[in-house]
Amino acid sequence: MLKDLLCHQNANLEALLDIINKNSKGLVFVVDDSGVFKGTVTDGDIRRFLMTGCDFSVKAMDLVDRESEVWRKILLKFQSTNIGARLKHKSVTAHVNTKIQDLMKKVDDQIRIIPLLDDDGRVVNFFEYQAKFNLPVASPNLGGNELAYVMECLETNWISSQGRFVTAFENQFAELMGTKHALAVSNGTVAIHLSLIALGIGPGDEVIVPDLTFAATINPVISAGATPVIVDIEREGWCIDPGKVEEAITEKTRAIIPVHIYGQAADMKALKSIAEKHGLHLIEDAAEAHCAKCDDQMAGAMGTIGCFSFFANKIITCGEGGMCVLNDSALYEKMKTLRDHGMDKNKKYWHTEVGFNYRLTNMQAAVGLAQLENIEDILAKRHWIQSLYDHHLLPTKMFMGQADLKTRTKVTWLVSYLLDTDVINRDELINKCKEKGIDVRPFFYPLSDMPIYKQYIRRQTPASREISRRGVNLPTLLSKSKSEYEYTIEQLNSITAQLAAAKQKVGI
Ligand SMILES: *Cc1c(COP(=O)(O)O)cnc(C)c1O
Repeated sequence: MLKDLLCHQNANLEALLDIINKNSKGLVFVVDDSGVFKGTVTDGDIRRFLMTGCDFSVKAMDLVDRESEVWRKILLKFQSTNIGARLKHKSVTAHVNTKIQDLMKKVDDQIRIIPLLDDDGRVVNFFEYQAKFNLPVASPNLGGNELAYVMECLETNWISSQGRFVTAFENQFAELMGTKHALAVSNGTVAIHLSLIALGIGPGDEVIVPDLTFAATINPVISAGATPVIVDIEREGWCIDPGKVEEAITEKTRAIIPVHIYGQAADMKALKSIAEKHGLHLIEDAAEAHCAKCDDQMAGAMGTIGCFSFFANKIITCGEGGMCVLNDSALYEKMKTLRDHGMDKNKKYWHTEVGFNYRLTNMQAAVGLAQLENIEDILAKRHWIQSLYDHHLLPTKMFMGQADLKTRTKVTWLVSYLLDTDVINRDELINKCKEKGIDVRPFFYPLSDMPIYKQYIRRQTPASREISRRGVNLPTLLSKSKSEYEYTIEQLNSITAQLAAAKQKVGI
């Protein structure tokens, strides 16, 4: 992280070495009070300084300034060596808006890391030499209080599922969602399983799920002993189709699990009215849609229970973690007991339910709470990434975005598009992107495609099949710069143009 590379100009040698030692990058960027770049000091500079006979009262600034007494001695001693000429040069820097191609030319295995400066000369980012450009599809962004909070757990010995962070994480999440209760659990999958069990759903019961989702929506239904019924999705919103849900209802149906997929909320208004009409529970799978909205209400906070995931690639993370949100206090108490082995809360080792250990640890909650403190910023950055891709990719007509529906407000989880597969072969696109170090992922397979789930489908699901076949997720990492995204977009556009041209040739 950038802050691990910064050293104030008045720092002494020991403080400077401490920073280098901790960041293990072999250098620091020396800055003044306002963060303006003064120069780079490498461990090589310090080695040479020590070899010229040292004065330990030296300040970081003296190690930067080529006119200082320190540097006069260094240059004198090393001028005739093969690095002499290089030592005279000032530190290499670049403006923060520099294109990746140009940044790549500035670094090599000698100059591995350079600071990126804003218009006022402040260090706002850095660029590091990589043998190859590499943009994974997702990586967690732990830029807030995560480390401090986890350290607090370790220092105070509160590392299991008791401790202040679990309660604080639950309370703040409930507040964010506007629900009476939030119950932290080990992951998003068990959040759904716990919900089903607490609602008494099991053998003989049917639960309706969409065909296009991650398997963690359907697996807990099967684990609970109930029968999943897979239905199709809406072509526009990519979420479960309320019309298809209604067709699938039988006297055995007990619940619907709408999935707010790829940041888009399902049509909760329609689903709620169906659920009410038939006396069904809505268990929302909001694992990919923290803070998405439908009719100005939070996705996850509209059904009987809403389930969230905090896996490392989700909108906010605890590494592994999950949450159930709900308003029904009796149900909440039951879930709390089930989460903790079904043990009577007033009588230790006396079990009133056949329960589970679905607890979240204080350390995971510590990370989750720190993430939650930054959620607005995280969502805004994700939105910014989406806008950048949209701006450059939509006009090419090779990529189509998820519809912006009037009653729903999307959030960006992984930037998602449908390809024009008449022109672009998805697998070829993915492979060509991989060669350029860009991690493009296909959408989930329809559940009904997989032999283990095939038996749970009653009607064809053409929309799920089409959207699954055409969809791609693009890298959505908060830590990457505008120029890295611009480079990625250029590559994407050039690859799609190539593929389209090749296709046209074959057509002729
Ligand atoms: C990630 C995910 C889950 C499961 O969450 P875990 O925390 O990984 O168990 C459930 N449903 C959907 C749609 C998901 O994307």
